[in-house]
Amino acid sequence: AGPDPAIEVIRSRLANVKHKILVLSGKGGVGKSTVTSLLGHGLAKLNPDVNVGILDADICGPSQPRVLGVRGEQVHNSGSGWSPVYVTDNLSLMSIGFLLGSPDDAVIWRGPKKNGMIKQFLSEVDWGDLDYLLIDTPPGTSDEHLSLVQYLSAAGVTGAVLVTTPQEVALLDVRKEIQFCRKVGLPVLGVVENMSLFVCPNCKSRSEIFPATTGGAAQMCSTLQAPLLGALPLDPLLARCCDSGRDFLQEIPGSPAVAALQAIVKQI
Ligand code: ADP
Repeated sequence: AGPDPAIEVIRSRLANVKHKILVLSGKGGVGKSTVTSLLGHGLAKLNPDVNVGILDADICGPSQPRVLGVRGEQVHNSGSGWSPVYVTDNLSLMSIGFLLGSPDDAVIWRGPKKNGMIKQFLSEVDWGDLDYLLIDTPPGTSDEHLSLVQYLSAAGVTGAVLVTTPQEVALLDVRKEIQFCRKVGLPVLGVVENMSLFVCPNCKSRSEIFPATTGGAAQMCSTLQAPLLGALPLDPLLARCCDSGRDFLQEIPGSPAVAALQAIVKQI
């Protein structure tokens, strides 16, 4: 077979997207979608001229519509392609969640169909001019990741942000993610350690949830020569905001998680 004709379409579709960043995690449940949404809000708040898009490519578990508070919105296909949903003036989102009949509908697709959807998203969404396109991927390294990397590399991919929790089991998987990135030539922009500390909402004291391994990400990053972008504390208010689709950065501006996030955003 010759080169995939979609590559040319994707290259021209994403020509006006400056930074294309994949957000990866070895396991589900470590906060990849949460971190993606926070980075989206954080980057969009840098200044009103910065345009940010989020592509929810977690086909089987799309959670961005909920986390960003735009569940049930409609996407429209105009002459120039699919229009994403605007969360704020400069933050837009495309997700398969918008195309499902009900939020409870399950997407049970085999690999080729999921890859087809990803290809369609990359070639048919009309993002306009973007400074950042953040791509929330499924957990692990699957067929979909290979497709994403193949298409995005042709369009000039910036790199990957890896999300992990401090436990050894999660860190082991991040090591694999780093190896995956190196094998496929995807630059590792850095690792975010999520839920590293617990900040009590009442007394504000900080506790290590996983005492034996807290700081494990830092150690792993130094061994594998990958940048550690920062650590986000486990914060019940953050979970509550994300669950109900509220903008955490705006609602709880004084929180340690917001300060940590702002430091991470500056490095991206
Ligand atoms: P993933 O995308 O890796 O599967 P999610 O982003 O969906 O994980 O997060 C899983 C759950 O953990 C969600 O309920 C989310 O609100 C919560 N969560 C993620 N990060 C934090 C955090 N730093 N503090 C509190 N809750 C968090």
